[in-house]
Amino acid sequence: MTEAHVLIIGGGAAGLSCAITLASACTKPWFGDRRIILLDDGRSDLDKALLNNAPGIDTGTLGLDVLKKMRTQFEGFNVGTIIDAHVTQLQADPWRAMCDDQRTFTGVHLVLATGYKHQDIAGLPVEPIPHHPDGKSGRISLPHDGLWQIAPQAHVAGLLAGGSSQFAIAAGIGAQVAVELLCEWAGKRTHIHDTP
Ligand SMILES: Cc1cc2nc3c(=O)[nH]c(=O)nc-3n(C[C@H](O)[C@H](O)[C@H](O)COP(=O)(O)OP(=O)(O)OC[C@H]3O[C@@H](n4cnc5c(N)ncnc54)[C@H](O)[C@@H]3O)c2cc1C
Repeated sequence: MTEAHVLIIGGGAAGLSCAITLASACTKPWFGDRRIILLDDGRSDLDKALLNNAPGIDTGTLGLDVLKKMRTQFEGFNVGTIIDAHVTQLQADPWRAMCDDQRTFTGVHLVLATGYKHQDIAGLPVEPIPHHPDGKSGRISLPHDGLWQIAPQAHVAGLLAGGSSQFAIAAGIGAQVAVELLCEWAGKRTHIHDTP
């Protein structure tokens, strides 16, 4: 699959949380045949983390194990795919992500969730700004409209959206971005709740 409805770049806490929340709506009639592609080059901060304070996750869990679980959870919905890829360039309308190995992926919606470290993607829809004016040097974020939109059909999530570096915060912004997209598809405010 090289074409999707949603193209997520970055498969850490935020990108995977966004993908899972989007995919969990797949049984809704308005979801249609939408598909999600998540591109990731395997450098999530979670790789290095030992989590003692992530809500609902056992104390002492490796971030690496949480990443694996989230990947499996997303893929279990069967409405998307995770592709190992390093994105180097973006083009708009529709969104096209070009990779260092010449592969290209397209999507109607773009979600950028590449973390807050300096990154080298050309053609970003907005210029990066410091993550926090008084924060660690070299950390970046992208300015958004308050609902994480950075351009038509484009959102930012996680640390790149200005969130502080905690798993719950990054994942929470990813889920919120997904809800904004789901509301657009449903044509009303909505969220996905299931009951036993
Ligand atoms: C050592 C360490 C310990 C930590 N401990 C804790 C803790 O105890 N509790 C806690 O709550 N949080 C902890 N954190 C913080 C937590 O890991 C982060 O807040 C969280 O991972 C941020 O999520 P994110 O999705 O914004 O970024 P990330 O998880 O870093 O994900 C960004 C993803 O984007 C991908 N990417 C970037 N550029 C590209 C590109 N051009 N093409 C394709 N993919 C790309 C990267 O490979 C990466 O997978 C820790 C972090 C570190 C570094």
